[in-house]
Amino acid sequence: MINYGKQSINQDDINAVVDTLKSDFLTTGPKVKEFEEKLAKKLNFKYVVAVSNGTAALHLASLCLLNKGDKVITTPISFIATSNSILYANAKPIFVDIQKNGLINLDLVEEKLKKENIKAIYLVSLTGLMFDEEKVKYLKEKYNVKILYDNAHYFGRDSGICDIATYSFHPVKHITTFEGGAVATNDKKTYEKLLRLRNHGIVKDNSMYPWEYKMIDLGFNYRLSDVASALGISQLERVDKFLEKRKEIAKYYHQNLPSYIKPLYPYNENSSYHLFVVQYDFKNLDEKAKFFTKMKQKGINLQVHYIPIYKHPYYKKRGIKASCPNAEEYYLNSFSLPIYYDLSFEEVDYVIDSLKGCLG
Ligand SMILES: *Cc1c(COP(=O)(O)O)cnc(C)c1O
Repeated sequence: MINYGKQSINQDDINAVVDTLKSDFLTTGPKVKEFEEKLAKKLNFKYVVAVSNGTAALHLASLCLLNKGDKVITTPISFIATSNSILYANAKPIFVDIQKNGLINLDLVEEKLKKENIKAIYLVSLTGLMFDEEKVKYLKEKYNVKILYDNAHYFGRDSGICDIATYSFHPVKHITTFEGGAVATNDKKTYEKLLRLRNHGIVKDNSMYPWEYKMIDLGFNYRLSDVASALGISQLERVDKFLEKRKEIAKYYHQNLPSYIKPLYPYNENSSYHLFVVQYDFKNLDEKAKFFTKMKQKGINLQVHYIPIYKHPYYKKRGIKASCPNAEEYYLNSFSLPIYYDLSFEEVDYVIDSLKGCLG
């Protein structure tokens, strides 16, 4: 089966994991710190906190940025975890429609900012595409809002505009630590709070008794293990190659797809290409579903990224409504083609031939 995404594990990764298994530390040890430092350097943040998954990263970030009842602007086209994290903090997600490239429409965001008192904007670098950062910076300064980047799809140097960025190391993402994630920031206070919240809200204080520690926040156990961090360190060694190959595949799709299957946006050198989303003029979702079944019979597992979040029953039950015609159209037309490091160009050709057979 050719999936839309997949991890790449080599002998170095396996050795790194096995070596750590044989060491004194399975959970928090030297590998966690090393992984965090290497990530910070690579992503250009002062501080990185490794956590158990990308959703935990979003949860902790939201507890740092938000208070109960805050309104937060976000995109309907993301994995549910982005806006769920706003709900975890007892805040209120407000969905603003997307533009043609799948990212949130920042002009519509500004219209909302003019009308309502908004605490933060949660931006998702969908597929690996960075936002118009000049505009993000302008909105942040003019409307005094906090900025979170959900960078589960993006892997690159940060330009210092967001307050917090979150990452996921689920096997389909750019690097994997089995499950895993990270929160990144340049703010020391935020960093210290993240460290506490990751570990039950505990601070070390044994000034009175040798066994003493103090819990000062209601935290969690969102720690990443040393074994997972060792895998992450090993994966980081190859991440540039991973990203390069993704770009090559994206370029190849652009050159070889038939004209009736349209890439979501023109080839972009700066995209991390976590996903390669294309669009086809489907009449309705049933037609799209039949096409998916045909492709599956050919051994190709496509996916839709994503169902507009407000359409989920839980969001309806909470009475969270949205009017996002572009997101609806995107949902009908879009699907993701296979793109990952271990995908061969013979397989890409096979995917393209199968698409022509099923849609042509
Ligand atoms: C994968 C993903 C997450 C969640 O990450 P997990 O590690 O699976 O918890 C959050 N947001 C986006 C956009 C994602 O793609």
